[in-house]
Amino acid sequence: MSTILEPGQIEAAASTPPFLYLPPVNLFALRAARLDTLAVGNALGDYLRLVAELCRIQQSLLDQPPVAAPEQTQRQRLCLEHGLPPLAADSLVREGHWLAYLDALLQRYVAPANAELLAAVGRLREASDEQRKLWGIALLTGQFSAVPAALVPFLGAALQAAWSHWLLNVPSADLKAADSLCQCPACGSPAMAGVIRHRGKYNGLRYLVCSLCACEWHVVRVKCIYCEQSKGLTYFNLDDDRYAAGKAPLRAECCPGCKSYLKQLYLECDAEAEALSADLASLALDMRLDQEGFQRLAPNLMLAPGGE
Ligand code: FE
Ligand code: FE
Repeated sequence: MSTILEPGQIEAAASTPPFLYLPPVNLFALRAARLDTLAVGNALGDYLRLVAELCRIQQSLLDQPPVAAPEQTQRQRLCLEHGLPPLAADSLVREGHWLAYLDALLQRYVAPANAELLAAVGRLREASDEQRKLWGIALLTGQFSAVPAALVPFLGAALQAAWSHWLLNVPSADLKAADSLCQCPACGSPAMAGVIRHRGKYNGLRYLVCSLCACEWHVVRVKCIYCEQSKGLTYFNLDDDRYAAGKAPLRAECCPGCKSYLKQLYLECDAEAEALSADLASLALDMRLDQEGFQRLAPNLMLAPGGE
């Protein structure tokens, strides 16, 4: 008699994989380089180059932070003790310490001679801290119609830089899984995408990438991260002449139960791939899945739909 192991059991039978990976300290430089490459020949090339430039500034915010990362607070210690996200986005975004990163980003950004970009940056520079905070809250809570679309990448970049900076200064060994599979254990934000690893002992494991702080947490494969069902999942990718059938590095895991999908990167098919850049460069896939009736629940803070 043979026993068929479920994906989770196969993983448990090997060795216990690390639950969490922190982002590399050059995360934003990697994103920038990747975006510059993907921009060539992409219909959204100008947009990808703008995000690449913002990623370079994000990297400078990590390398030369405008403010020191706060010492571990009593609240963080309590959160870690109780298995709660120590960098909870919903409360920290309201406290506004991230605004120092937005200030620094606006100082360091040199807008090209482009009327739209100049207007967006001007509007952010002139906005009060109260207004900026309201936009930040709206962006992180998914109230996209309350944020002008042109401001989204700047706000998203500042928020990401602040949270990644803080994350890299939190003792991560103690982080526990959040209530929902799709929720970041460090900051409670939703996942942006999944990455299937390809090297070493943990080859083939799935990690989800946080849309805000970029930490990665392990979730078994072949399971909808939203409704936790495994039945009938399908994998969808756009035809691409560069890859043989079944070898596309980016595929969407589509769930017939809750009609949602999550984009996944298969590093075995492209070892250089990176989640945020791959996501932005494949908006055609989102449009296609939208037509098929699937909804996207994973935010990308550099391209929220936005209002106005
Ligand atoms: Fe996070
Ligand atoms: Fe589902």
